[in-house]
Amino acid sequence: MGLNVIMMGPPGAGKGTQAGQFAKDRGLPKISTGDILREAIKENNPTALAAKARMDRGELVDDAMMIAIVADRLAKSDVQPGFVLDGFPRTVAQARALDDLMDRLGSGPLIVVDVAVPEPELVKRLAGRRICSNCGTNAASLDATACGKCGGRLVQRADDDQGIVLERLRVYQQSTKPVLEYYRERPTFRVVNGAQAPERVASELNALIDHAAAAKR
Ligand code: AMP
Repeated sequence: MGLNVIMMGPPGAGKGTQAGQFAKDRGLPKISTGDILREAIKENNPTALAAKARMDRGELVDDAMMIAIVADRLAKSDVQPGFVLDGFPRTVAQARALDDLMDRLGSGPLIVVDVAVPEPELVKRLAGRRICSNCGTNAASLDATACGKCGGRLVQRADDDQGIVLERLRVYQQSTKPVLEYYRERPTFRVVNGAQAPERVASELNALIDHAAAAKR
């Protein structure tokens, strides 16, 4: 049975970084729907290009498209030992579709972790966040001058612009918060305090996930 983890949390909570680190440590693929969309846009994929305007405004891309992307990705053989999902599900409809998919694939229960951070802290973090224009990695710190991974130029993400940040937080409250309620009563649901040093969050996250994995057996 695979270690199937969903990293939930508002934009700016650090869930992408945590998902990446955890996936690397455990040798699991990290599946980020935001990264898949940005990659497809770079490759001029027409469906992704059609979604770009919504992304740039901080709005959600439609459920059918996102569900199809994730269904395709989870059909690949590298997810056999498990996966770490980052940025999906973002609506209750996506969460329901993922449950159906897991049933069809005969995969084990989902471990859901909410990386919780208070809103004022999120606004502060998002306004300062920069990513590499070449490989998309988050900048290591506010005063980094180049990407720590490939040396590429650091830029602000189009959707980290101030007005758009507020829109993304509004969309999160309205569409994605209900997903937490959808999962909350499950024995494999956990919350980690994301307003701590990243190393601390990572170590608590590891312990919580191992605990949840033991509980699901
Ligand atoms: P992210 O990098 O996860 O913040 O995603 C960037 C943008 O991609 C989001 O603001 C949405 O426009 C779109 N997106 C990514 N994942 C999803 C999803 N599961 N459902 C709808 N839209 C998504």
